[in-house]
Amino acid sequence: MIKIQLFIENPIQTNTWVLIDDESNEAVIIDLGGGYDKIKEYIDAHCAELKFVLCTHGHFDHIMGIPDMQMDNPDIPVYLSKKDENMTDKINEMLKQFGMSGNYASVKVAEFIDENTKHLSIGNNKIEVIETPGHTQGGLCFKINNLLFSGDSLFRREIGRCDLEGGSYKELIHSLKTKIATLPDDTFVYPGHGPVTNIKDEKEFNYYLQD
Ligand SMILES: [Zn+2]
Repeated sequence: MIKIQLFIENPIQTNTWVLIDDESNEAVIIDLGGGYDKIKEYIDAHCAELKFVLCTHGHFDHIMGIPDMQMDNPDIPVYLSKKDENMTDKINEMLKQFGMSGNYASVKVAEFIDENTKHLSIGNNKIEVIETPGHTQGGLCFKINNLLFSGDSLFRREIGRCDLEGGSYKELIHSLKTKIATLPDDTFVYPGHGPVTNIKDEKEFNYYLQD
């Protein structure tokens, strides 16, 4: 079974999801938005081993915990879409854009991933990469069995903003309708911000998924 723990990080209140497979004791982080020391403690306390970090996209609030991790342990691979590569050294710039400041090192990506990436797993559970451009060009969702990590593509009864660099409302709606609304009703959705939801509810109540 996969244990899912939520850490809400940074001033943007980004959901950092920490997954631990209790058979293999492998841990995976989805969107390390901050709090690396505390998360490392949590993983250690569960006698688990951090295998890699997945990024749903390259926005600063989803990656700004990574420089701390890479300082502590540069060997843990970070995976991101190639199409968001230009954001890996823009944390400080984007913070400024949001009225904050920081002095973060660039994020080093071990491998760029897309829908053809088939080798990702946690324990015996395969991790499927789903490309959902629209919030950013490199937006990804990750599906593990009936769990979907949707980043800023899909929130509970809401969708991600499309007005930032690389965003496209038309593309995001297309991504969501063709790739996310088509998933089984009983798929649980773990978004990049806000509460958990599921595909059945989103198909029924999310305005943007209606025809
Ligand atoms: Zn974002």
